Amino acid sequence: MNSCRIYLTTTIPYVNAAPHLGHALEFVQADALARHYRRRGDPVRFQTGTDDNSLKNVLAANAAGVSVRDLVDANATAFEALAGPLSLSVDDVIRTSSDPRHRVGVERLWQACAEAGDLYRRHYEGLYCVGCEAFYIESELDDGVCPDHGVPPQLVAEENWFFRLSRHADRLGDEIKAGRLRIEPAGRRNEVLAFIEAGLADFSVSRSTARAHGWGIPVPGDPDQVIYVWFDALGNYVTALGYGSDEANLSRWWTGASRRIHLLGKGVLRFHAVYWPAILASAGLPLPTDLLVHDHLTVEGRKISKSGGVTVDPAALVADYGTDAVRWWLLREVPRIGDADFSGERLVARANDELANGIGNLVSRVFGLVSRYRDRVPVAERLPPGSDALLDARRSAPEVTEAALAVGDFRRATAAVWTIAAEANRYISQSRPWLLAEAERGGNQQAGRDLDAILACLVSTCRDLASQLEPFLPDASERIAAACGAPGGPAQGAQQLFPRLTPCGTGAAGKTAP
Ligand SMILES: [Zn+2]
Repeated sequence: MNSCRIYLTTTIPYVNAAPHLGHALEFVQADALARHYRRRGDPVRFQTGTDDNSLKNVLAANAAGVSVRDLVDANATAFEALAGPLSLSVDDVIRTSSDPRHRVGVERLWQACAEAGDLYRRHYEGLYCVGCEAFYIESELDDGVCPDHGVPPQLVAEENWFFRLSRHADRLGDEIKAGRLRIEPAGRRNEVLAFIEAGLADFSVSRSTARAHGWGIPVPGDPDQVIYVWFDALGNYVTALGYGSDEANLSRWWTGASRRIHLLGKGVLRFHAVYWPAILASAGLPLPTDLLVHDHLTVEGRKISKSGGVTVDPAALVADYGTDAVRWWLLREVPRIGDADFSGERLVARANDELANGIGNLVSRVFGLVSRYRDRVPVAERLPPGSDALLDARRSAPEVTEAALAVGDFRRATAAVWTIAAEANRYISQSRPWLLAEAERGGNQQAGRDLDAILACLVSTCRDLASQLEPFLPDASERIAAACGAPGGPAQGAQQLFPRLTPCGTGAAGKTAP
């Protein structure tokens, strides 16, 4: 297989509060993809960051009575610190308020769109929801309130810079229909196409410096205006690569990359599938190739959101249950389509069933059998009888995983890997190695050879499982590989790979913020 260079990003979260489990979902999904492609041999750059310049951050700091800088720094640090507990293999983090690459890149992006004739200034009145950082038209509101935040938007009247989105409608539609800009799942793609076909209105890309409380990047040549948060925030995907500061790196990871993949939640679909590609087209840059859109998490039936007051701290969850259990729940239980409901009980049930009782039990049974009956891990001369279903599961897992990850279906991908463990446990019960060992002791040499073949097959299954689990559970993968030892080496003793969990504070109740 030819290797292809892949640039992979998460969205950059607002830092008006500490991270919640919804952020962890996107980070862990992106990490599993990054690890999967690296394992395949592809050069990957896995990029994250924080959106520091949002007006929401300013308002949160004012409400808390701290400086915007202090609030943004504290929360951005909490986001960055998630890489440890979640075992994220992030290559780079950009912070839009302090990274020297960002401001020069955004200014360059602005100038490129201006030179293309796509920016103009005009008077504007609109209904603005600060929670969304977006303008609404009357028909988009639910009984006069923001459908997302349940509060009435503010009427804002001012001079703003506008982006000529209308000019790019045909190109965007063509790119999406031709699959050069792939949007998964298909329902989201259709939603975007319908939005484009309904006609694209130009959108505001600046706001008055006064309304922005002086926070953000000033419009080049117009200090009374600050660049609107979305133009600024979306720009991070190229400024982090050196747009405006490091052309060689930009060309390696954006212009010359085979795939430019953005992961995002359904709430920011329009910004990523319409506004962002239009800005890139205007600036003469290639568009993203893939948008993988996930739905949202709820906590015990309630919408998970910082502003809604319902949150689960992913770092606390990992402290209670461990990295493997949290990653496994996020990847294995959250469906491709539809919101998923989190509870500590569900996380614990999933981890106990599939990690402790499933994979952990398998590995400890296999090495228990090997150490009971053999001094060394036997080398197989042939495939053991009755192992077809197990071998099928092992053979098909890589292909199923590849296809599932291509469309962002992490549940199907992990199911394929989990099937290996389930089939292997079933195979042990069916092949009953302990009876063969008994027959061998009674002088039956064929039974001894069958036992060798079964044990060899089971050990190689554990080794295979360790390898195929790596993108999803990197820590557990390492422990299983260590338990397997070198091929043909001494048998390892059975060991506990996953603790049995019981529900406790953080996850079970779904911590509610004050
Ligand atoms: Zn809103």
